[in-house]
Amino acid sequence: MTDPQQKKLKLAFIGLGVMGYPMAGHLARAGHDVTVYNRTQAKAEKWVKEYGARAAPTPSAAAQGAQIVFSCVGNDRDLRQVTLGPDGAFAGTKRGAIYADHSTVSANVSRELEQAACAGGFSYLDAPVSGGQAGAEKGILTIMVGGDAQAFATAQPVMAHYGRAVTLMGPPGCGQLTKMVNQITVVGLVQALAEGLNFAMRAGLDAKKVIEVISKGAAQSWQLENRGPTMVDDQYNFGFAVDWMRKDLQICLDEARRNGALLPVTAIVEQWYGKLQEKGCGRLDSSSLMKLLTEK
Ligand code: NAP
Repeated sequence: MTDPQQKKLKLAFIGLGVMGYPMAGHLARAGHDVTVYNRTQAKAEKWVKEYGARAAPTPSAAAQGAQIVFSCVGNDRDLRQVTLGPDGAFAGTKRGAIYADHSTVSANVSRELEQAACAGGFSYLDAPVSGGQAGAEKGILTIMVGGDAQAFATAQPVMAHYGRAVTLMGPPGCGQLTKMVNQITVVGLVQALAEGLNFAMRAGLDAKKVIEVISKGAAQSWQLENRGPTMVDDQYNFGFAVDWMRKDLQICLDEARRNGALLPVTAIVEQWYGKLQEKGCGRLDSSSLMKLLTEK
């Protein structure tokens, strides 16, 4: 079997959004032979100018001959389109290859695509990421993977070009299930942070000083240290969008209806994100939950 750390691999990357653009860039910088596809061609052209590889006109053409095909698109529907749709990547993926998807989608669509990949003679890994735009740019994402152990062993060192922790969580769908746990734990925390900081400001405290102090104690978290100060400054024009977070929470709630897990806090916060969307704040950072408390 090819050792990806030793050899230049032929790779494809579909979806050059906020996340995919830098992730594909890390693969090209590492010396692999990368073909990209993006629906909006201008982005693919910009990427090619920056990294000097090549773009293909369809997902199917991009996948042709690749040893590993990666994608990072939006939701279930988008992923179905780029894999199974007309000129979809599955039609071009060769037998024995690996298809690894980095989008956050349902566990169900991941299992369905894994079955379709098996029927086509190649492997499928669901490999959602955490770490945001900054994590993708710095190449330090956390990647949670579901699928076949042998395919994982081949893909893991390649994903390590943009992932600091790349972990196999179990059979198909387990990567997405792990990402759901990540989102469930994050949103409860962000809502609590918004409530705490709003309380601090209304109580007349210096909210930034409060953050400094309580981040040394039991309330410490990545969200408190990184998002706390920006929430106090009412800055939300960056990071992980409300639209994406609501999509993720709907996936979690849907899965919980099947497995019987109670998600009372997640269900409420999902509605708060709906309120932000109604206010036209869908592209703001997901820490903008604070706005619902501070604005009249
Ligand atoms: P984004 O900037 O909106 O990019 C989405 C990409 O998918 C674009 O390249 C878009 O093409 C492509 N795409 C969407 N629908 C498509 C379709 N039907 N057919 C073909 N291409 C399509 O999104 P992102 O922030 O990179 O996020 C991508 C995925 O990663 C999402 O599942 C998101 O939940 C997840 N994620 C994001 C973050 C984050 O911080 N942004 C963090 C962790 C996970 P166009 O350029 O033509 O629109």
